[in-house]
Amino acid sequence: MPVRAYIGLGSNQQNPPLQIHNALAALKQIRRTVFVGHSRLYRSRPMGPVDQPDFVNAVAAVDTCLDAHTLLSELQSIEDRQGRVRGGVRWGPRTLDLDLLLFGDEQIATDKLTVPHPGLLQRSFVLYPLYEVAPDLRFKEGKLLAELVKDHPDGELELLDNPGKRR
Ligand code: AMP
Repeated sequence: MPVRAYIGLGSNQQNPPLQIHNALAALKQIRRTVFVGHSRLYRSRPMGPVDQPDFVNAVAAVDTCLDAHTLLSELQSIEDRQGRVRGGVRWGPRTLDLDLLLFGDEQIATDKLTVPHPGLLQRSFVLYPLYEVAPDLRFKEGKLLAELVKDHPDGELELLDNPGKRR
């Protein structure tokens, strides 16, 4: 049985909207995986101490017959193909960042993979677009995504094609 997985996309280098569009096209090509849909594109302020351009973010949903680690490898090879340089500063600039946010309701904690993604519940640039693709999503512990979004400050998130608007 395929598993519904959610993937967070982010870019703040080399034409970020194009990076996100190219990454969405690449997600559609992953083997043994069906692309389900994606959110609109959002602009977010960078996290952390590094002075760098704003990010463009989105979330995509896929149904996959791959296991979570194999899916992560596929995501990393898409990052590599789009010129991702590894080993830079944490929270630093990047051409493409793909995070495996959720993998069904599996909880995974290995050297390579933590799922649900640790930043998921704290980041408006993940929660808001995730809510767009999965408005009825309920977390394993019973929490509704809709409730989290309602209570979560939106930071300075805005829709890329509609500046000033958050949803
Ligand atoms: P980052 O620089 O944020 O892209 O982090 C990349 C590293 O995070 C990789 O070495 C991954 O193995 C690891 N990682 C752990 N959990 C996840 C996850 N849920 N999604 C993506 N990368 C992950």
